[in-house]
Amino acid sequence: MTLLSQQISGFIENSSWIRKMFEAGIAMKKQYGADAVCDFSLGNPDVPAPAQVGDILHELADSAQEPFAFGYMPNGGFPWARQIIADLVAKEQGVDVSADDCLISCGAAGAMNAFFRAVTEPGDEVVGVAPYFVEYGFYTSNHQVSFKAAMSKPDTFELDVDAIAAAMTPKTRAVIINSPNNPTGTVYGRQEIEALAALLDAKSREYGRPVFLVSDEPYRFLAFDGVEVPSVLPLYDYAVVLSSFSKNLSLAGERVGYVCLSPRMPDRGRLMAGLMLTNRILGFVNPPVIGQHLLKAALHAQVDAGIYEKRRNVMARVLRDAGYDFLMPKGAFYFFPKAPGGDDVAFCQRLMEEKILAVPGSGFGGPGHFRLTFCVGEDVIERAAEGFRRARG
Ligand code: PLP
Repeated sequence: MTLLSQQISGFIENSSWIRKMFEAGIAMKKQYGADAVCDFSLGNPDVPAPAQVGDILHELADSAQEPFAFGYMPNGGFPWARQIIADLVAKEQGVDVSADDCLISCGAAGAMNAFFRAVTEPGDEVVGVAPYFVEYGFYTSNHQVSFKAAMSKPDTFELDVDAIAAAMTPKTRAVIINSPNNPTGTVYGRQEIEALAALLDAKSREYGRPVFLVSDEPYRFLAFDGVEVPSVLPLYDYAVVLSSFSKNLSLAGERVGYVCLSPRMPDRGRLMAGLMLTNRILGFVNPPVIGQHLLKAALHAQVDAGIYEKRRNVMARVLRDAGYDFLMPKGAFYFFPKAPGGDDVAFCQRLMEEKILAVPGSGFGGPGHFRLTFCVGEDVIERAAEGFRRARG
């Protein structure tokens, strides 16, 4: 083992793989210089936020002396911000949504925590689709709820509805899907979601309580080649959309997102009252003031998806030329290639010796693969080409 890989294996112990790689990257950049390291580890958008963000910040500075300019507000967010989200979701999902069915949260992460806290009891289960966003396990265990993974179809990462059915029990309170998907770049088709909705309908009847369909959609804006991202709200009474402005407005650090309940959901006013309470008592209290102003100003000027599409194409060429086996992502900003030799952890170590940072698929419940993000410039992707070739051997 080289000195470099010994140093790096020190990072690979606790916490999540993504964070481990992110932190390893910081240390490597310090040691070797930022330009020497090709960091594909974290989905932290580098494309600048829309110009409107800067403009509104100047305006906010001018109003900073007004009373309560940055004070507390209702736990679900400013009423005008909830109306903006209702209009947005109505347009995206093709259903009538009212502001009363939307709550502004601290990112999609805050939305998930508020939602699971509101609908689950300790001992309940949430089923997700592997490979999955690694934080789901934490966002369920925070509330003494187990996260159970159902594998997607092995060669396409499409939904395997039979596998989801097999993972469900009377304790299943929700099934969570994420499309466009992190880490695989898959976009689920309408028929797959319809089949899932039919399953959840049948299971809700069998168990005598509703099983929620949670659709985690922060990458909805980023689907390539004209691929449609189907709406879930019209397809199932107990559907819920969670999302944020972390990716489409490059505001990941601002922590602003939302939950929207299907207008078809019976008794949803009660659930919304529960969400208001959990958003408060989990310590979020209310969503950030500035984040809501930013989303109002910049919502219709989201970052240029064409930048990501170009990078995807460059990365596909680099990987193909180096002989990797991968599916072309249909959406989001991730590749999930097969790890040569099959051992994803060992292969990511090999990449690190080339000063390339990737995340082992094991961290996402997808061993045998590794994840690369293209939240970096084309020059970084090109620069990594030689290292990808050498690591493959
Ligand atoms: N869901 C998925 C699939 C993600 O990839 C992320 C962030 O990377 C989140 C949720 C959390 O996003 P937010 O920053 O809005 O909390």
